[in-house]
Amino acid sequence: MRFVSNECSRRQFLKTTGAAGLGLLASSAAAEFLSAQEPPLVPTRPFGKTGANVAILSMGGMFDIPNNQLMLRQAVKWGVTYWDTANSYEGGNSELGIGKYFAKYPEDRGKIFLVTKSTAWTLKGMTEHIHLSLERMRTDHIDLFFVHAIRSISTMDKNMQRWGEKAKAEGKIRFFGFSTHSNMEECLLGAAPLGWVDGIMMTYNYRLMHTDAMRRAVDACARAGIGLTAMKTQGGGQVLTGSSEEIKQGGRFLQSGYTQGQARLKAVWENPQIASICSQMPSMALLAENTAAAVNKTKLSALDREALNLHAQAGVAGYCAGCTGICEPALAASVPVGRVMRYLMYGRSYGNRDFARSRFQSLPAHTRAVMARLDYTAAEARCPQRMPIGRLMREALIELA
Ligand code: SF4
Repeated sequence: MRFVSNECSRRQFLKTTGAAGLGLLASSAAAEFLSAQEPPLVPTRPFGKTGANVAILSMGGMFDIPNNQLMLRQAVKWGVTYWDTANSYEGGNSELGIGKYFAKYPEDRGKIFLVTKSTAWTLKGMTEHIHLSLERMRTDHIDLFFVHAIRSISTMDKNMQRWGEKAKAEGKIRFFGFSTHSNMEECLLGAAPLGWVDGIMMTYNYRLMHTDAMRRAVDACARAGIGLTAMKTQGGGQVLTGSSEEIKQGGRFLQSGYTQGQARLKAVWENPQIASICSQMPSMALLAENTAAAVNKTKLSALDREALNLHAQAGVAGYCAGCTGICEPALAASVPVGRVMRYLMYGRSYGNRDFARSRFQSLPAHTRAVMARLDYTAAEARCPQRMPIGRLMREALIELA
């Protein structure tokens, strides 16, 4: 499943990014990686008890894949052979782009651990989606199929189990599981005893990984042999501070040879219970930076870890932890606070305004109307992150509408 030839890596990178390619890189770790005659491949880890070994860096599919085919080629060369997409990403173009790549390089299909997801949440809808995904990606099977973005483990009921077993028996999927950005700890704890969930992708980062609840949830899944993929590992918040402390911290990491973003990846990789990190890398420079972090063996120092912890504590009121089971029931009407917080994060922290707007605009008109006039006081009182929920909901209405 791994590609071995790296001799063209540096040349390919420069060809793709232009002459200024190396200059685009922020970290010395990346410059060192690209200067190597034989850069090492991204390491692998076992994915739970599935028997599959996966690259510890997974390429997220939220970018214009049809028009960036060289990114996929380069990812394979560097060993970024775990690819994550979803039926809905880029309006279907993400899967179509992967299919375009496999049509040109069919020999690479066997090297890739291919993941896609469906938000249908109904058995009929998921069956339709899986057929569409197979067709779009020009493959006869999906390695890991996720029920996308569940908010409660109750979604993974007996019918869902039977659906997954049938899809496996038909050879359409190898492994089955779910992704979650909401109530992650409860979803993980609920999945551990089920015995038929092969893998989970969940929000997990330096802000969340040290809480007791998250530790317990991850331990339970690791003991149950469930493969875990971390996402949203940069911990991007909804309230951007740009404080002088943050700027100082970024500079300090650079002196150690890596960027703040690379340090945040390293913090997650330090937990061996996490098989892989799914990262959105819409540019060759970011792919190089993250790959360099994955192969770089320098450990975070105690001071680095402390800096990340301090940052997590200082920014607590700017980061939504996805615990929607706490705030949403406190509202007098149904408003998907957690989803809106995520869309704000896509726009503000990821800088992906178009995607954030398109997701926000997919909310029903009556939901947006309710959002504008709702009183959020009770939800704010319950929020463990002390988020200014009302203010942020109103800002989302202006910014993303
Ligand atoms: S707004 Fe607060 S309570 Fe609601 S999901 Fe975010 S962190 Fe949790």
